Amino acid sequence: MSQQKGTIGVTTENIFPVIKKFLYSDHEIFLRELVSNAIDATQKLKTLSSFGEFNGELGDLKVRVSVDKEAGTLTVSDHGIGMTAEDVDKYINQIAFSGAEEFLSKYKDTANSIIGHFGLGFYSAFMVAKKVEIKSLSYKEGATAIMWSCDGSPEYSMEPTEKSERGTDIILYIDDDSKEFLEQPRIDTLLKKYCRFLPIPVVSGKKQEWKDGKYVDTDEDNVINSLEPAWMKKPAELTDDDYLHFYHALYPGQEDPLFWIHLNVDYPFTLTGILYFPKIKNNFEVNKNRIQLYCNQVYVTDSVEGVVPDFMMLLQGVIDSPDIPLNVSRSYLQSDSAVKKISTYITKKVSSRLEEIFKESRSDFEAKWDDIKIFIEYGMLTDERFCDSAMKFALLKDTDGKHYTLDEYKTLIEPEQTEKDGNIVCLYATDPTTQYSFIKGATNRGYNVLLMDGQLDSHFIGLLEQKLEKTRFVRVDSDTVDNLIPKDSHKEVNLTATQRNILTTLFRSQLPEIKDAQFLVSFEAMNSNDAPVILTQNEYMRRMKDMAALQPGMNFYGELPDSYNFIVNTEHPLIVRLRDKSESAVGEKIVPLENTVTEKNNEISTLRSNAKDGKLDDEQEKKSAELESEVNKAREEQEKIIGEYASEEPLAGQLVDIALLSAGLLKGENLSRFIDRSISLL
Ligand code: ADP
Repeated sequence: MSQQKGTIGVTTENIFPVIKKFLYSDHEIFLRELVSNAIDATQKLKTLSSFGEFNGELGDLKVRVSVDKEAGTLTVSDHGIGMTAEDVDKYINQIAFSGAEEFLSKYKDTANSIIGHFGLGFYSAFMVAKKVEIKSLSYKEGATAIMWSCDGSPEYSMEPTEKSERGTDIILYIDDDSKEFLEQPRIDTLLKKYCRFLPIPVVSGKKQEWKDGKYVDTDEDNVINSLEPAWMKKPAELTDDDYLHFYHALYPGQEDPLFWIHLNVDYPFTLTGILYFPKIKNNFEVNKNRIQLYCNQVYVTDSVEGVVPDFMMLLQGVIDSPDIPLNVSRSYLQSDSAVKKISTYITKKVSSRLEEIFKESRSDFEAKWDDIKIFIEYGMLTDERFCDSAMKFALLKDTDGKHYTLDEYKTLIEPEQTEKDGNIVCLYATDPTTQYSFIKGATNRGYNVLLMDGQLDSHFIGLLEQKLEKTRFVRVDSDTVDNLIPKDSHKEVNLTATQRNILTTLFRSQLPEIKDAQFLVSFEAMNSNDAPVILTQNEYMRRMKDMAALQPGMNFYGELPDSYNFIVNTEHPLIVRLRDKSESAVGEKIVPLENTVTEKNNEISTLRSNAKDGKLDDEQEKKSAELESEVNKAREEQEKIIGEYASEEPLAGQLVDIALLSAGLLKGENLSRFIDRSISLL
């Protein structure tokens, strides 16, 4: 064969500049492409050998990647089938670009979305090299070694050369702007990323050792892919330790995962993999250790959006499938029917595995519940299908740490916690410490209280209320025990108007000014052994505020003050005592003031009802203002008298502080005043 010159069979003249510019941001993938080709050539040789079509020595089949900094070259060598001049003509010169040009022009605008997923194969070498040589000797008997060379223009040269060993060397003369690919550590890192699980040993330079104050090469090859891809094996061949070992190799420094699921389908698509449920600490660690996507053991990406359902982004592990169309844009991926099938399959597999674990080892499942709950709740909230299957194994945990399925829980609480119009009321606490007295009050009453302290629990409660018939959730501190689950009619509050007025003013005078908090005093006739006073927070408002904290756009609720009900138990002996004592102390002074308020208010009403067309004239306006100021004066007077009384009677202040304390609101100066007062009362 004499020297051959020719033009590469690409219809466009400027494909190389396009490759360079186009794939600029992800040019590292050239290495993946070249090593994959080398592996393929080696596998082909092994196949030929096993069919008896190649009878020579297989020899050392390792694929080697080496850099020569001085020469400025990076070489990928294999001992695979090699190429004859005809092969190079056929595979490199002619067809390498069939379809590629069309593809490139079509996706030019969405370059970023396809970069890295579109295998340009051999030609991606030109992203980093100014010149590429192929030196190859085919396995075929009597083959002549050839040298192909191309400097990035559409012209190449090809001539016979000397090469004693079978196989191919691809020699890249690295471009000035890609010098990083002449650094051994950079190459090692890239190979570890892309080639870690390839089926033929890939060698990147030599193992190093520390000698005389620096690292030096040893004689031993540095094999990148010594770890076996566990997902390629059958589950029966793997022990728990194998799964754990593989997990830690993938994600060093992580705690043991909770569970894993081995995926294995070959129809209607091919997919294998292992998904791990990690231990998620406080915040989602989704960004760091993500699921890795492989295509026939070659690493492709760790952005699997669209391939797995959203909520599974919390999982870790490996998915390997040649059927995921990666050479397309993300938005296309999500609407692709094959991908949808894959995603549905994964969801089904994950939920059935969870159900299996739940059924087979419930205690283990319960023990891990706190860790997997965020994942299951997130799944239920975002994936209808997963939600339906998870209803069977989603658990509720009560404040005693006992777990129930949704059905079990219903059976448990139905007898005691059904309210008068037939709804089942689930009581829950979000903080067992600050809500302790409320939890105790409810459990003393024979109720069960759930612990809902997870990050997604407020949303999850909303979901359960939608899914479970005639069921509502009420936080245990949102009302008095009696009102949490209204059963039959209430006992009437037995207070005269004056007693009510005195007690209201008295307690109000003792309630502190707290920024963004608002208190409303009200009375209820509870049991005499219930607490004398309690502080509750309206369920609806509190939920809205909780949601606002999680979701931007609900600011309106977020900015409202916290509103608390200060509920006075008129049946409690202490309140009865305070009622009587305060009435006898200030009643005489208060009654005439109350009368003034009533009288003046009546006069204002009369004035208003006499006004023409409901509008006061100037004279009436003036009179009304005078009356109002008298009402205010009488009220202020009452407040003053009751305030003075309160300073001599520590009981009211003490009760207020106790209520604040059990709601976790007694802090700072108020707390220290409470302590002082308590000591003086002892
Ligand atoms: P693809 O690998 O997708 O077919 P490439 O452009 O990477 O596309 O390679 C084109 C063809 O060139 C390969 O299919 C193979 O036949 C041949 N080839 C490339 N690299 C090698 C190699 N190292 N050894 C033998 N043949 C190779």
